[in-house]
Amino acid sequence: MNINYINADKTFKGLKKAVIHNSTRISVTNNIPYIEFTPFDRFDWVKLHFSTRLGGVSSGIYSSMNFSFDRGDSYDNVLRNYELFLDTMDLKTSDCVCTKQTHTVNVIEADYSMAGMGITKPRSYDNIDGLITNKKDLCLVTYFADCVPVFFVDPVNRCIGASHSGWRGTVGNITHETVQLMSSVYGSRPEYLHTFIGPSICQQCYEVDENVASQFADSYSGNETDMVIDLKGNGKYLLNLQAANYFNMVHEGINPENIGITDICTSCNSDLLFSHRASHGKRGVLCGFMSICR
Ligand SMILES: [Zn+2]
Repeated sequence: MNINYINADKTFKGLKKAVIHNSTRISVTNNIPYIEFTPFDRFDWVKLHFSTRLGGVSSGIYSSMNFSFDRGDSYDNVLRNYELFLDTMDLKTSDCVCTKQTHTVNVIEADYSMAGMGITKPRSYDNIDGLITNKKDLCLVTYFADCVPVFFVDPVNRCIGASHSGWRGTVGNITHETVQLMSSVYGSRPEYLHTFIGPSICQQCYEVDENVASQFADSYSGNETDMVIDLKGNGKYLLNLQAANYFNMVHEGINPENIGITDICTSCNSDLLFSHRASHGKRGVLCGFMSICR
């Protein structure tokens, strides 16, 4: 795989304490590549594999590792993709709990009664963009194609969280909702948490209009606004969603040194990763698969 890394020095100036460079590794199991986040290597009880487009059986615009049953791809191919990818984690489809993402900031706790929901059985919930759990071998599944993946590990209480943070989830602060739920259910404290901001669309690729930019201007102040929003001209702005999510985490009380960010952009790498913008919506979907493995 030949990944394009965006210029982290330029794009993330001001986030010096976050781990950006060398924060990702491409691993391969059974000829299936996946992205791992090196700041989480220290947690040998957590497994987190982030998919690419490669190694699956889907074709055309879904080529080849597509995980969406809802975008017109063959059901059998998508199911096979789950089986192939989950093999890299020694997990099965019946171990998964899948979000039902609709750009909300709703987060729920996943338990064993929900195992398989979204793949092997229907979901008992709707409009859920984030999941947390402390259950071993229960795999949290979140979906992405430019939106920002945010992952949470609490080594003190041995619990995890995974959320989908697009521009609505970022300005609505699903990070806050995830941390709050981990706190109320498991006793997590922000200072315990280690987080990662995964592959998503970079600022140079992410043009938005005044309506979206103004909501971010209302949510961030001072130097933060300067980092998050760049005026492009003609009423267009470039939005740095990764920086915005980083600030959400810092505001929550998470130690900047415990925040990791990748500088892999989905749109800059649309041959290897699904990108909604780069494909004009003709695409499959990537997944983050996260579980407690011991
Ligand atoms: Zn880009």
